[in-house]
Amino acid sequence: MVINNKRILIHDEDTACYAQLSQWAATGEAITHAATLQDLEDALTRSTYDLVLLSLSAEEASRVRASQILQQSGRSVPVIVLAPPGTSPQDVSDLLGLRLAAILATPLDPTRTQEAIERALDQHPILLHQRELEDDLLVANRRLNERLQELNTIYTVGKSVTSSLDVDEILERIVVTSVNLTQADEGFIILRDGEELSLRIAKRAREAQPRHLHTPISDAIAWQVIRSGYPTMLGHTTSIATNGHVQALLYVPMNAPTRGSLGVLGVVNRQNDQPFSENHLFALSSAADFAAIALENARLYGIVQTEHSRLSAVLEHAAEGIIITDTANRLRLWSETAARLFKIPPDAAGQPVDQHIDSAPIRDMFRRAQRGEKVQHTEVELQSGEVLNAQLSSVDQVGRVAVMQDITHLKELDRLKSEFVSMVSHDLRTPLTTIQGYIELLDRGGPLTELQQSFIQKALNSLRQITLLISDLLDIGRIEAGYDLEMDSVRLDEIIRQAVTDHALDMSQGQIECIVNLPEAPLWVRGNAPRLRQVLDNLISNAVKYNRPGGWIRISARPDGSHAVVSVVDNGIGIPPSEQPRVFERFYRVQSPETENIRGTGLGLAIVKSVVEKHKGRIWLESTPGGGSTFVFILPLHSRRSKNRT
Ligand code: ADP
Repeated sequence: MVINNKRILIHDEDTACYAQLSQWAATGEAITHAATLQDLEDALTRSTYDLVLLSLSAEEASRVRASQILQQSGRSVPVIVLAPPGTSPQDVSDLLGLRLAAILATPLDPTRTQEAIERALDQHPILLHQRELEDDLLVANRRLNERLQELNTIYTVGKSVTSSLDVDEILERIVVTSVNLTQADEGFIILRDGEELSLRIAKRAREAQPRHLHTPISDAIAWQVIRSGYPTMLGHTTSIATNGHVQALLYVPMNAPTRGSLGVLGVVNRQNDQPFSENHLFALSSAADFAAIALENARLYGIVQTEHSRLSAVLEHAAEGIIITDTANRLRLWSETAARLFKIPPDAAGQPVDQHIDSAPIRDMFRRAQRGEKVQHTEVELQSGEVLNAQLSSVDQVGRVAVMQDITHLKELDRLKSEFVSMVSHDLRTPLTTIQGYIELLDRGGPLTELQQSFIQKALNSLRQITLLISDLLDIGRIEAGYDLEMDSVRLDEIIRQAVTDHALDMSQGQIECIVNLPEAPLWVRGNAPRLRQVLDNLISNAVKYNRPGGWIRISARPDGSHAVVSVVDNGIGIPPSEQPRVFERFYRVQSPETENIRGTGLGLAIVKSVVEKHKGRIWLESTPGGGSTFVFILPLHSRRSKNRT
């Protein structure tokens, strides 16, 4: 019988089958005989076989034992059962679990036996390989499942810790999960506070709840992990750790993206001598990352809360009305004063400014800011009579802040002051006119010496200066109070022409050339002719006064859309940029060596601005020191036909 050098074991108690086989086999020495169950067990322990022939014992206990021995050998050896004729697979059901290749009837038939043995031996390597693959697959599946479970646990921890802002709760979950995932004897978190370490939370495997601690500790390995930002894993051969002897240790840093290591998440085995694995390292690192994010979130939330409380306190106590919106002009925060002034309800957050602020100028400021104007100032009079000085600033990507100061009492003071000045000016004018009259009459009393005449001239100059000041003061008071402002359809081009003619003498005395550029068509505006004339007188006389001999001035007017645009340009001494915003203020005069000998009251441009604004116009200036100034004002054009007095 050819058996291809395969190793065959036969368990045959009465040796009949073995005798038959040995006879037929070409290489009989390849067949090992186990007469007893003990022989069978010994043979399988000592060596490996490609095929086992099992001659079926009549005794059931013996059959079951033989089957157990074969299964325990751990090998997937094919088994051919040798049994009396008529034995079916059901009859040998107690052998199930073995790799049954065939059942041969005894006494054995040589041909069938050889065929069955060859078939079993041919299949054996394939079966063996298949079995090994199945085993490998099972192991891989089990590992995969374990990893999936780990990942799932980490994911769940991540979700729960990042959704909580309670630091103790976060640390508790992280430690419990770490101990469970690594099956460690103990897990803990060490937090760093500057140059100190403190043990914040610890849990032993057998304890039901973690212990919350604040114990300062010194742990060299923890410091090493924190400073390097890398984990440390010590196997059971290294046995010394933080606070006692341990068999194995795994420390991972809790790294926050911007603040480095916040501390260490650690697990140790004390009694259990199992070392930690790469899988444990991976799981613990993920848990530590979540812990760091959650700690950082909690810290930042704390900062935001503190800032918010501070801001709320400021807003509650600020005397100013403050309104803060987002970039879409939706209300975000407002001060108590703003809530009182505009009756903003407490639940208005997130709603548009337009819906809650019933002051058109304030709403308009927010609208203009949305169109791109960065900073705006305005004075607003509320229906309640309060006057506010409002400033609105835009903050890129954030929104807008409007700050409003109540200046009602300042306005009232200003009004009283103007009234007082008007009254005093008025009362001064009459005696001054009398004084001027008598001084002018002095030479009628007899001839005056040259010295007396020069004194009289000086007195008259000063009188003229005082009279000018008083008349300017009276003017500004009257203009602001709305007097002398009867409006009519007037030709602005004519007013300009007349003013230029009347200043011709000043210009020639100052050696100033004048260029005039007026449109051919009349420029009708609705206005008060004497006041408009005053505007031009002031601008032209300034252009002459603050010029140099040989200089020029250019006066032009033109219609532009619905407005008349008038400009008075000179190439005189100019105004420094820092002084430009102030020249329209009352009594403001630029102090410089060039202006110190030029007479003026500082009221001219204040009068000009008031008049222009009372005419619903605007005035501005552009100027370069040494290069001259340009004053431009615009007034709404008016159709000639509607010439009704108001
Ligand atoms: P003043 O009576 O002093 O001229 P204004 O109100 O008319 O007062 O002008 C205020 C100040 O503005 C002046 O004192 C002067 O310094 C400056 N100023 C006005 N117009 C001009 C100009 N065309 N060129 C240079 N400086 C000017």
